[in-house]
Amino acid sequence: MKAVLTVLGSGTSMGVPTIGCNCRVCTSTDPHDHRTRPSVLVEYDGRVILIDTTPDFRQQAIREKITRLDAILYTHAHADHILGLDDVRPISFKGEGRIPLYAQEKTAEALESIFHYIFDANYKYGGIARVEMKRFNGSLELFGARFEPVRIIHGDAEIHGFRFGSAAYLTDFSEIPPESKAQLRDLDILFLDALRHRPHPTHSTVANSLSLVEELKPRRAFFTHISHDLPHQETNQNLPDHVRLAHDGLKLEFEIA
Ligand SMILES: [Zn+2]
Ligand SMILES: [Zn+2]
Ligand SMILES: [Zn+2]
Repeated sequence: MKAVLTVLGSGTSMGVPTIGCNCRVCTSTDPHDHRTRPSVLVEYDGRVILIDTTPDFRQQAIREKITRLDAILYTHAHADHILGLDDVRPISFKGEGRIPLYAQEKTAEALESIFHYIFDANYKYGGIARVEMKRFNGSLELFGARFEPVRIIHGDAEIHGFRFGSAAYLTDFSEIPPESKAQLRDLDILFLDALRHRPHPTHSTVANSLSLVEELKPRRAFFTHISHDLPHQETNQNLPDHVRLAHDGLKLEFEIA
């Protein structure tokens, strides 16, 4: 089954341009250097799956004309991956049921605490997102496709990305454990965190992610969660042909099942 992945956001937690910064990437006129917070949309068989709800979700949904969401999957509870949850409201009011939110235990707890009113059965004012929390642990079967969590190390935290069909999306990691690498073989598309060149305690660098591409050998690789240290064009010129910086609005076709 064919699927289309759309990069909703390719930027790091602060976004690019970064508030108050006048560097050459933040002031660039190349639209590829404009990066909202990290998220992707996966569409197949008339279904629309969102991975993470960033603080830029509203802007991303308007840009990509998103009119439905069949499921939302979470990678972890950092602010840049969850704070747009309230903005799914207009989409959630359209559908018949509630939009399922798939989150692992720690992420579910954080969402239920930050957005406590959404999950309060006695909330009396209405107007809240029509969603339901679905805790999950192993792989998920969604509308004929399988989404497998891929455990990754993100500084002190253990979080996960996802593999779905011939694609995988690993947005925030400093390290990929060996057993997770075994889940990342024979990929058409691999998304990897590549914050910048300088080392960072919770994120991968361009050099580190390039060595992962060499090791895992996906057909195509895309770097995401990018900071203002990496100018789009110039960085791409120094990458092998099958490795590119992702950019907002990028669309890729792949086989999901
Ligand atoms: Zn992040
Ligand atoms: Zn900057
Ligand atoms: Zn994070």
